[in-house]
Amino acid sequence: MHEIVNVTFELKTYEYIEPFRIANNVENKAHNVEVKVYLKDGAVGIGEASPSYRVNGERVSALLALEDDVKEMISGEDVKNYRRIFNIMDGLSRTAPSVKAAVQYATLDALSAIWNAPVYQILGGHKNRIHTDKTIGIDTLNVMVEKARKTFEEGFKTLKIKIGENLKEDIEKMVAISEATPEASYIVDANQGYTTKTAVQFAQEVYRQNVNVVVFEQPIMWNDHDGLKLLRYASPFPIAADESAKTKHDVYDLIRNECVDFVNIKLMKSGLSDALSIVELAKTTNIGLMIGCMGESSVGINQSVHFAAGTGAFSYHDLDSHMMLKENFRGKFKQERDNLIPTL
Ligand SMILES: [Mg+2]
Repeated sequence: MHEIVNVTFELKTYEYIEPFRIANNVENKAHNVEVKVYLKDGAVGIGEASPSYRVNGERVSALLALEDDVKEMISGEDVKNYRRIFNIMDGLSRTAPSVKAAVQYATLDALSAIWNAPVYQILGGHKNRIHTDKTIGIDTLNVMVEKARKTFEEGFKTLKIKIGENLKEDIEKMVAISEATPEASYIVDANQGYTTKTAVQFAQEVYRQNVNVVVFEQPIMWNDHDGLKLLRYASPFPIAADESAKTKHDVYDLIRNECVDFVNIKLMKSGLSDALSIVELAKTTNIGLMIGCMGESSVGINQSVHFAAGTGAFSYHDLDSHMMLKENFRGKFKQERDNLIPTL
């Protein structure tokens, strides 16, 4: 009854409302893969892969070429035994993690239709709403301050600020943004743009100026574990790994080597299976968690809304890419200002 009989991949290209600039990178379009899992009884589950070449080394053409293989790998499996399907998809952890995420989620989405229960409840139902931040990309000081002010007034209490291209300007921007929105909390993301030294200088100077940074995300290169460990103890702000933390094995190494205070889980890096493991690893070791996104549309953000609400594991939610894309909303969640409320 509930066996998988077909899997389809479809390329979906979304334009950004305006170019999204982070340290050493600009995005104009998101090339995503919409995955549908069809069951024998007619139920359909939907997921979305939003690949990142910069982080995962994924190219969308290579992902689309996996369609027949994935179909062969999971055809005949019953979605009620979803852990079996998760395990099969774990083989794509290093080569196509976003496809792994989309197929794993589509499996739960199909199960949600069968059981008539929303995915967040299948995952535990810990929370029934979460609050997201909103991101301010790299721009001139004046533009960033104005966007921060407007975004805070729209109801986003946590602002994610992109930095990492110029130490002196970054400090000036953070102080000016903080003066314009003194009630806000800031997640500051340098996307590997700093060296260990410039990252320490940034953190100490911004701390001295009383800027309310709650997380300092991936200041330096993903593979510099020694630098991260040094930073963790030299920075007054919690240090988070994003680009460094893809699989559960990466996170295990980071925690064991005392490199991080926080981990930014993204389903597009880890899939649901590794993300579930990372949640337990972090809880066990008292490491903080945030959840982030790549260039997902509302179909892809939906996955993280249900995951985050279901597990209830995250101190911060950075689930805003759908707000940056030109699209027609298709998520199974409601959005009221910064509230994201999962639905059936
Ligand atoms: Mg990041």
